[in-house]
Amino acid sequence: MANPLYDTLFGRHRGSTKPFLILPDGGTLTYDGFLQMAAQYAHALGACGLEAGDRVAVQIEKSPQYLALYAAAAQAGVIFLPLNTAYTPDELSYFVENSGAKLLVGDDSKRDVLAPMAAGLNARFETLNADGAGTLTDIANALPTEFPTVERGEDDLAAFLYTSGTTGRSKGAMLSQGNLLSNAATLVDHWRFTEGDVLIHALPIFHTHGLFVATNVILSAGASMVFLPKFDLDRIIAAMPQATTMMGVPTFYTRLLGDARFTRELAQDMRLFISGSAPLLADTHIAFEQRTGHRILERYGMTETNMNTSNPYDGDRRAGTVGPALPGVEVKVTDPETGAPLPTGEVGMIEVRGPNVFQGYWQMPDKTAAELRADGFFITGDLGTISEDGYVTIVGRGKDLIISGGFNIYPKEIELVLDEQSGVLESAVIGVPHADFGEGVLAILIPKPGQTPDVEAIKAQVATSLARFKHPRAYVVIDELPRNTMGKVQKNVLRDTYKGAFT
Ligand code: ATP
Ligand code: MG
Repeated sequence: MANPLYDTLFGRHRGSTKPFLILPDGGTLTYDGFLQMAAQYAHALGACGLEAGDRVAVQIEKSPQYLALYAAAAQAGVIFLPLNTAYTPDELSYFVENSGAKLLVGDDSKRDVLAPMAAGLNARFETLNADGAGTLTDIANALPTEFPTVERGEDDLAAFLYTSGTTGRSKGAMLSQGNLLSNAATLVDHWRFTEGDVLIHALPIFHTHGLFVATNVILSAGASMVFLPKFDLDRIIAAMPQATTMMGVPTFYTRLLGDARFTRELAQDMRLFISGSAPLLADTHIAFEQRTGHRILERYGMTETNMNTSNPYDGDRRAGTVGPALPGVEVKVTDPETGAPLPTGEVGMIEVRGPNVFQGYWQMPDKTAAELRADGFFITGDLGTISEDGYVTIVGRGKDLIISGGFNIYPKEIELVLDEQSGVLESAVIGVPHADFGEGVLAILIPKPGQTPDVEAIKAQVATSLARFKHPRAYVVIDELPRNTMGKVQKNVLRDTYKGAFT
């Protein structure tokens, strides 16, 4: 094949009048219409001076044109670099500089700040707005709807995807065509996607979940998606009767459960709900099944590796676990100090290997060497266990582990107890500096709407449920946990806010 990523995901749909995107206004964009648009953007990339191997950095709102730019980059052999819309211009300048992008595509409303920033970094600046208009579109519209696909191989880089920055500064994960294609093929098969599927797509597309998991799966299967600009309960509820599947972060599911219009009848023609990017509480899984009869399928992945594990399509979808390793992916749990494999059931570092694992961090050889072993195993930074029958349970991130008085404390174990307490909606447990213990355990409680948790009663309950060294030394009640756009709790923010709690 001349260009495996383009040919497999996009090119083979040329001429197809099937809807690829179903848009909020009720209109549709066919596969062929989409590919013509993509070809025009591929020419536009060339017109902006980009050649195969160059990077295009993109910080724009979700739109069909955004996806067409992704297809265009694949067709032109340009490395695609989508960026979180929440990043400030200062943050953005780091990504443009770090990646050496030749072109930055941004929203017109930010032109005054972004254009000079790009110019200072020798990058060109063009615009593409939420409605699809912009200077890049003006260039594209004047160009042909056929583009001679640039030759590429499986080992060529397709994207730099920056990690979410939950544990520190974002790192640019270099993903090859082969990384993306192998995972898409595995997921289509594992989750039984076919041409007949219609996916509700309400995720952002600057992240692996919305861009690679959702979009690549739909393209590989030749299916359709209801393409929503963002999570919107009204629109999701309206779309559900015509859809078959949804992919979401856990907050999508808790918000759906919070709406009385979300009923068993509404979900009756859906065949699959998938969750990932952050832990789905077992309670949510159970409440969802009670409401709809569907068992949410939880999977586990990351920017660097695409998807690693998934609960099964048929068979036991176990609440609180992320399922066994996907076909072709190896998962093991090792001693974080020595890297030696641990016996079944013991908590340790999750490591993964397979065709899905990235090529390293762009221009960070030390970080790459520290996290990607010579034998191909990637050290995920997540702690967990593997059961006798291969199911992986994530206990938390290595960086969130609390070491207090020489004991290892897993916040999740304490959070699970706190979440059960009356008046508590959810909780976060962190370690903050403590003069005697190194770190002290701090519990942060979020009340259920209109309720006030009784901290003294909770302390008494914790005393009977958990060993003494795990007892929080202080409790704080706040309105909500800081979360990023993917629904991940930002414990680094909490640790910073409460760093003085014991000093
Ligand atoms: P950074 O690496 O920059 O600190 P990040 O790890 O949050 O940020 P992502 O690659 O977006 O960036 O997220 C991957 C992480 O998300 C995983 O390492 C894991 O901690 C978490 N995750 C993904 N799916 C699940 C899941 N089903 N359950 C629990 N955690 C999950
Ligand atoms: Mg990470």
